[in-house]
Amino acid sequence: DYSPPPYNGPSADEILAKRKDFLSPSVCNYYQKPLLVVDGKMQYLFDDKGRRYLDAFGGIATVSCGHCHPDIVNAIVNQTKRLQHSTVLYLNQAVSDFAEALASKLPGNLKVVFFTNSGTEANELAMMMARLYTGCHDIISLRNAYHGNAAGTMGATAQSIWKFNVIQSGVHHALNPDPYRGIFGADGEKYAKDVENLIEFGTSGQVAAFISEAIQGVGGIVELAPGYLPAVYKSIKKAGGLCIADEVQSGLARTGSFFWGFESQGVVPDIVTMAKGIGNGIPLGAVVTTPEIAEVLTRRSYFNTFGGNPVCTAAGLAVLRVIEKEKLQENAHVVGTYLKDRLIALKDKYEIIGDVRGRGLMLGVELVTDRELKTPAKAETLHVMDHMKDLGVLIGKGGSYGNVFRITPPLCFTKEDADFVVDAMDY
Ligand code: PLP
Repeated sequence: DYSPPPYNGPSADEILAKRKDFLSPSVCNYYQKPLLVVDGKMQYLFDDKGRRYLDAFGGIATVSCGHCHPDIVNAIVNQTKRLQHSTVLYLNQAVSDFAEALASKLPGNLKVVFFTNSGTEANELAMMMARLYTGCHDIISLRNAYHGNAAGTMGATAQSIWKFNVIQSGVHHALNPDPYRGIFGADGEKYAKDVENLIEFGTSGQVAAFISEAIQGVGGIVELAPGYLPAVYKSIKKAGGLCIADEVQSGLARTGSFFWGFESQGVVPDIVTMAKGIGNGIPLGAVVTTPEIAEVLTRRSYFNTFGGNPVCTAAGLAVLRVIEKEKLQENAHVVGTYLKDRLIALKDKYEIIGDVRGRGLMLGVELVTDRELKTPAKAETLHVMDHMKDLGVLIGKGGSYGNVFRITPPLCFTKEDADFVVDAMDY
């Protein structure tokens, strides 16, 4: 029953007209008629007319606890009043409290936290650390991966729309263990052989790292085939490399059954990267590793101006507390399972739904015009998304062919919200 304060700013059309001069057309183009968002409250967004939308995309899997969650807003405001910025070169309580709380959420010896402002920077740093630590250059990532948009991470990314043909050296892309589209179906160990081959034929036999998401997000919610990561981690370790888990989307309780996506495959990485959900929308990224690996940077004085900003880390600490206090991981599991079941039932009803997948509140629905040939239904995907927006539901799209709905709402989503999403899709 929240109603946002009146909005007196320019209309969407006025902003659109101006935007031609000041903003690239590549932004704000998600819908045929762009959406002007002026307020957010928990799982809802509001437009300039005060119209409410159920946000089932969560700011691209970022608003973990809900828009403008009061505890997080308070933490940000209180910290902002006291100290907005100093530098990670000095001690700061917000920074160290958050680092300690974050480290306590990770298994094994993953204890040392480095702060960044985004997932891209976190992955850049992780890959650099692996290269420094091992003295090797080669990195293996997966086809269909998305790891960021700077030179190194764009190299590790493997989807043509995110490749800008700039220099991206030293990365080899392995077969994607995609149970729906991959050549070995759901047999993770078979795909893992490809990594062994890449090490043998594409490198000197030694590698710096293997990096992967546990559930590919931008790539269209692709859960890696079971058994894949344990087998690959074994080959990588044998070749002297480190295993990097990119938890930018799949971490922080989103998958419900686990706090981190990699836990679903029973592995413990050497380096874990995260961003998105850990700040609930405030720019915050982190790399967590072991003291032994972290040593390579303490010897070199690594430094990042905004990384570890006290306002962002205060938000991060509040996020961890809210996840615990509101049992958001359990909720992601319960509501995610319910939503997935309802989506699977929808698949039985509509030929165009080729696959329903994912875990917790990280779900994907792939649309195909031919189930046998798995022909991507790109135009239909856009059409349904536009229609759902008109009905008051926002979802994302992804996949190399742009034909996968991505459902990654705030983790406070309810079963009624799940029903609203499915009913809007079922028209
Ligand atoms: N890694 C994954 C798995 C992502 O999904 C993303 C962004 O979508 C990134 C890295 C890059 O994060 P950022 O956009 O914060 O740089």
